[in-house]
Amino acid sequence: MTTAPVLAAAHGGHDPAFVITDIRATTVSVPLEAPLRHAVGAHWGRFVRTIVEIETADGLIGLGEMGGGGESAEAAIRGLLPNLKGHSPFNLEGLRFAVCNPTASLYNNRTQIHAALEFACLDLVGKKLGVSVSDLLGGRVRDRVGFASYLFFRYGHPDTGAGEVRTVEQAVAHALELKAEHGFFSHKLKGGVFDPDYEIDCYLAIAEALPGDSFRYDPNGALSVIQSIRVADRIKDVNNDFLEDPTWGLEGMWQVRRPGLLLATNQVVVNFEQLASNVLRRAVDVILLDTTFWGGIRPCIKAAGICETFQLPIAVHSSGELGIQLATMLHLGAVLPNLSYTADAHYHHLRDDIIVGGKMTYQDGTIAVPDGPGLGVELDRDKVAEYAEEFRRLGGYPYDRDPGRPGWYPIMPNTRWADPADPVRPQDPRLAW
Ligand SMILES: [Mg+2]
Repeated sequence: MTTAPVLAAAHGGHDPAFVITDIRATTVSVPLEAPLRHAVGAHWGRFVRTIVEIETADGLIGLGEMGGGGESAEAAIRGLLPNLKGHSPFNLEGLRFAVCNPTASLYNNRTQIHAALEFACLDLVGKKLGVSVSDLLGGRVRDRVGFASYLFFRYGHPDTGAGEVRTVEQAVAHALELKAEHGFFSHKLKGGVFDPDYEIDCYLAIAEALPGDSFRYDPNGALSVIQSIRVADRIKDVNNDFLEDPTWGLEGMWQVRRPGLLLATNQVVVNFEQLASNVLRRAVDVILLDTTFWGGIRPCIKAAGICETFQLPIAVHSSGELGIQLATMLHLGAVLPNLSYTADAHYHHLRDDIIVGGKMTYQDGTIAVPDGPGLGVELDRDKVAEYAEEFRRLGGYPYDRDPGRPGWYPIMPNTRWADPADPVRPQDPRLAW
């Protein structure tokens, strides 16, 4: 239990020992089960993530994490130490303006960096007070968060072909395998790789193989409006959660939206201006909140409150995560009364994690919200060292390039689909297996 004097002493930066003294950043490369294909390129068999540690004068350490499109974000994170030295982790609104003032952001867009710093400050405040982040942010309405299976088309191992998901049969087998292993009861097919007619063949086959479960298809805005409408028509009899980002832009989504099939987005409503626009003229039904894209856990909670008022369903989005970022998603999911759907996670595609105790585990398609102060996760220093070395060995990779299609890049709406009959097994020294 926290006592009032401790709160009074610590609040508002009045405790001189609870101020930021150092910011550390370490880039790690953690292997995935296989390279994951998506609409603009691929995750090259691994996630490159930058682990953030903020230290206060009293020796507490708060943890954050961010992506970076396959590249390190170390320099950008460390470069903010002069802005934040002496800043109290309690002063979260101040942090917003110290890091990403809206006018300054026209020159240096730091929203995602702010997110990583906010995670670490929330972790610090929780540790200081001895409470979990979800207790800090309003208290839990649930202790476990449900996740969708997140099915990707994948490249196979260059020698054995192992791990490949390309054919309809492989896609169905992969869905069944993930359900058997983790208990998922909803499933998201990540598309935008092959022609949508082929991908919907896969989607319908997966839905047929898993009666009673629910489904969503996400081609990351790669389709034209007309293609999106055709997809909506083909899947109308499936138990769909929603159709996610079939085409680009609020105007495009508005044209696709029709009775009987909800549209969701994590791409075209990712800030408060876009949310306001979508409230004024509804183009999208379901808002997928990403703790990185929105700039932290607290902006997501603010957005969720607006969505509650206007009866827009919400869910928690994944932009790739190790255990620290997953903890932010779990604490967010724990405090949202209007969470309407299972969350996304790339997490089950990872082979390992950098937190003490190893990877968190699914039970019946859900993960328990971590207990313990702050985010409730701690760094396994040996794992961080191991995967930092892996990053030094392999370097970064371009998230928006495909190792199996050198020279290719998509246009929007895309017409340059991959060929599902082509069993290409890319070989590139930046790939991990
Ligand atoms: Mg999406």
